[in-house]
Amino acid sequence: MQVSRRKLMARLPRFALAIAGADLLAERSARADALVSKDSVSYQTTPSNGQQCSGCTHFVPGAAGGPGTCKVVAGSISPTGYCLAFTAS
Ligand code: SF4
Repeated sequence: MQVSRRKLMARLPRFALAIAGADLLAERSARADALVSKDSVSYQTTPSNGQQCSGCTHFVPGAAGGPGTCKVVAGSISPTGYCLAFTAS
């Protein structure tokens, strides 16, 4: 099958976007795989001895004080939660 140079040039941007999209998906997947489960670090939704996720260096706050995420633990994380990986910020 022969493709003219003009057709090839017209398809190039879509091809580049497809490659960029595939790279982005692979990167996201790798990051998700790197996170540990809540069970593995005994995550709980309540503080422990005054320590809670909002005071942890790994916590990424959500919008308006709602649930956020964690750089270590997978899933939605409560600002008042706690786990064994707690590290004071
Ligand atoms: S590491 Fe544990 S304590 Fe720290 S933000 Fe993540 S879930 Fe909360």
